[in-house]
Formats: sequence, structure tokens, C-alpha cells
Amino acid sequence: MLVIDEAACEALVGREEAFDAVERVFAAMARGEARNFPVVREALGHADALYGFKSGFDRAGMVLGVKSGGYWPHNARRGLTNHQSTVFLFDPDTGRLEAVVAGNHLTAIRTAAASAVSIAHLARKDAKVLGMVGAGHQSAFQLRAAAEVRAFEKVVAWNPHPEMLPRLEKVAREIGLPFEALERETLCAEADVIITITSAFEPLLMAEWIRPGTHVACMGTDTKGKQELDPGILARARVFTDEVAQSVSIGEAQHAVAAGLLAEEDIVPLGAVINGDHPGRRNDREITVFDGTGVGLQDLAVAAVAARRAPERDMAREVALGEKR
Ligand code: NAD
Repeated sequence: MLVIDEAACEALVGREEAFDAVERVFAAMARGEARNFPVVREALGHADALYGFKSGFDRAGMVLGVKSGGYWPHNARRGLTNHQSTVFLFDPDTGRLEAVVAGNHLTAIRTAAASAVSIAHLARKDAKVLGMVGAGHQSAFQLRAAAEVRAFEKVVAWNPHPEMLPRLEKVAREIGLPFEALERETLCAEADVIITITSAFEPLLMAEWIRPGTHVACMGTDTKGKQELDPGILARARVFTDEVAQSVSIGEAQHAVAAGLLAEEDIVPLGAVINGDHPGRRNDREITVFDGTGVGLQDLAVAAVAARRAPERDMAREVALGEKR
């Protein structure tokens, strides 16, 4: 059994590997060859923590496993990341534990890969301005991944806590993109692609602000009750997701579906577009939304990349599990 730590994951799984792994597993999900199991997420009643499991089996890639972890809101003052997770990979043929893989870097890189895959397949080819709504830990990963799939010329950004924006500005400058902090309505008027990645529980962007032809990757809403978009945006848009069951229960679409503005049957798995079974964006005036809820198979896909590459580069510790028959 391999043990792969955070530093090794950072060295082993970059944006390109994550993009390919996530695109491949979304495609397998849409073909019915990979399946996420029901998510468990519980309040512990201790340390104000939320704890859970995301698990699944990718028969196409032969990856079986579980990501376990959650959110410990008081970690930051101990010098630790609030989101904590670990991935366990099992041999699909025998059930034996194959690898324990640190999950914090992988979570950020697989989430950024999901929105980048959506931009690659759904945004207009001539998209020039990237709008960022959110400036927390994930936002830097999101910005870097998005910048690799379209020739953006500028980043415009808004965050409910403006004091967090300079960190994102630094990332934009590092990749050579001019950066401007704007009010939300102006951001929507300028951006061709918008990524939302906040912990909001109420709409931050209004339907009348979104221009025809915009692609919105809505990435922050991953829990019941969270919300980043006016449901009217989804009513006007063609809506895509990683997994429809999650989209309508814990994703952004939960609100539009509950309000009767969007039918579950009208939400398209992004994998169907990747597989060529759905045309995706139909014209340059259509608004497209990707409701990225975050599925366990994304985590397993990038953890499997780390587990495959670690021995080649001597970056894993091997631990004998021992076995009694
Ligand atoms: P973070 O704590 O580093 O940053 C939080 C962000 O949300 C900041 O931009 C902050 O200003 C904003 N924010 C905080 N409270 C808010 C409120 N009440 N209303 C509006 N905005 C608020 O978190 P992060 O790691 O960057 O994660 C951002 C969000 O993305 C979280 O909601 C997280 O659960 C979600 N997430 C989703 C996925 C997925 O796969 N879809 C994966 C990882 C994280």
C-alpha cells in the first residue's frame, strides 16, 4: 500500500493531468461506465465540523475508492487548512487498500479542472474577459486553470470581502493578465466567462446582468442551501453539470428546480458534450451554465494519477498491510 503526501501530490498532479483525468471521468460517467455512490455529509457536533464521504467506481478507468474529509472552521487559527480530506484507493479486483493519498491539493486542482473542462467545451471560442466572483483558497486554482483553455486578455473580479482580492490580482499578474476589481453588474457586462467560487447562501449575480453568450461556471454551491446565482439565470441558460442528481439536490440548480424555473430533465451532463452525444453551446448568443457540484469520481481520478506516477518518481512510501486469510 502506498502513502502519498501533500507535497508529492503537488509535484505529481498538475493542471494538465487533472484536466485530462476529470474530462475522462466525466465522459465515463455520461456513458454509464462510472458511478458515484450517495454522498454522506454530517455535522459532527464537535469542533463545529462537517464530515463526510464521497465514493464511487470508475469501471472504465478501473478506479475504486473514497474521499473522506470535510470542513473544520477553526483550523485556520491552528495554522491548518479548514478543508481537510484524504483519498483511499482500493484494488477493484480484490478490495485491498492500494493507496492513501493526501486530498487537499487534489481537491483544489480537480475543482479547477472541472470548471476548465466546462470552459473548454462550452465557452465561446473568442472569449476574452474572465470574470472571477470569489477570492478564497480555490479562486487562484480556478483562475490558473481557466487561463489555460481560452486566450483571455483580462481578468475582472469581485469578492464580498474586497480585502481578499489582492491575492487573486497577484495570480493574474503572475500569468501575465491585467486585473481589475469591479462591481458585480459591471463585471457581468464585461466578462465572457464568469467563475463563481464563494461560500454564498444567496444570489450574488442577477439574471438581467448576464450578457448573451456568457458562460458561467458556478463552482461554490456544493451543499443544500448554498446559492450564488439568481435562479433566473438558469431559467435563461442551457444548464450543464457534473452529475444531475447532485445538481438538483446540492448544486446551484436546486433553487431553479424548486422554483419550477428549470426541469431536471433539461440539465445535461457535461460528459455527454465531451462524448459528442450533446452539441453543448448551440450559438454565440446562448448563455451556458456549468453547475459544478464536485463528485467523488473527480477526486478518485486525480488521486489515481498520483498513485500511478508516485512509484515512477520515488515519491510514495510503501507500507505492508499484512494479511490473515
Ligand atoms: P475560502 O474559505 O478560502 O473562501 C471563501 C470565499 O467565499 C471567499 O471568496 C469569501 O469572500 C466568500 N464568502 C465567505 N462567506 C461568504 C458569504 N456568507 N457570502 C458570500 N461569499 C462568502 O473557501 P474556498 O476553499 O475558496 O471555497 C470556496 C467555495 O467553494 C466553498 O463554498 C466551498 O465549499 C466550495 N467548493 C466547491 C467545490 C466543488 O467541487 N464544487 C470544491 C471545493 C470547494
